[in-house]
Amino acid sequence: MDLGIKGRNAIVCASSKGLGRACAFSLAREGVNLTLIARGQEALDATAAEIRAATGVSVTAIAADITTPEGRALVLAACPNPDILVTNAGGPKPGDFRDWSRDDWVAALDANMLTPIELIKATVDGMMARGFGRIINITSAAVKAPIDILGLSNGARSGLTGFIAGLSRKTVARNVTINNLLPGPFETDRLRSTATGAAKESGKTVDEVLAARRLTNPALRFGDPAEFGDACAYLCSAQSGFITGQNLLMDGGAFPGTF
Ligand code: NAP
Repeated sequence: MDLGIKGRNAIVCASSKGLGRACAFSLAREGVNLTLIARGQEALDATAAEIRAATGVSVTAIAADITTPEGRALVLAACPNPDILVTNAGGPKPGDFRDWSRDDWVAALDANMLTPIELIKATVDGMMARGFGRIINITSAAVKAPIDILGLSNGARSGLTGFIAGLSRKTVARNVTINNLLPGPFETDRLRSTATGAAKESGKTVDEVLAARRLTNPALRFGDPAEFGDACAYLCSAQSGFITGQNLLMDGGAFPGTF
């Protein structure tokens, strides 16, 4: 299936590794030119070089923090009129809400709610004027089924989800769709680092903790980031213009509800 987006321009945030990187790769395979951002230069440059070599698309790599106004300004200067925007940032730390200060909450809101909103604010009117836009927010399965130790994530991402539910109905008539992708457990560095705490507590190795966790999923495995990237590319396709305001849960069936 040709997704009909060859030659389009995309900003993909937090994209040197993991799910953001997978989204960038899948879009590049469809011929989409990319502006990538992550803080660490080395991994970012390696990802940009790999994508260029594999697909031949143009890739601009910006080493900066997307949660800062300066980082966002750099990305928007590199790609002022994106057709596609994939918002993403690192997830907040786990813990007990009694230990979190107001600053912890503001940092989580900045990363996982306000940064996507700022980026959308800067790009959505141009998309509507041009008659094409696809915005994907990488959120979390925690929006659908809260994870107790990830209260910062549950809260901040739910705020974004509520905002998107309203806005996405206001843009679709101009062929600008806004959808959220909700990852369950995907095999990335983030997943490994969240298993480190559990390993320390239980006296097991990280690999043992991960092996046990795999078996708790109905699919008996974690998700492959490439599966996530391809779902993102489809939601960015020319064919997906009638899908907006949706929350697509990708969790191997872990959420047990009928809907
Ligand atoms: P990951 O493998 O750790 O990759 C995170 C990527 O984001 C890296 O490229 C990192 O590069 C970049 N990044 C982090 N903070 C950034 C910032 N402030 N500015 C720019 N780039 C930044 O994580 P992942 O598993 O792909 O997770 C992506 C998102 O999905 C996170 O919010 C995570 O909480 C959420 N999520 C993941 C899972 C899962 O199972 N993997 C499940 C639910 C939700 P630098 O560090 O160099 O900046």
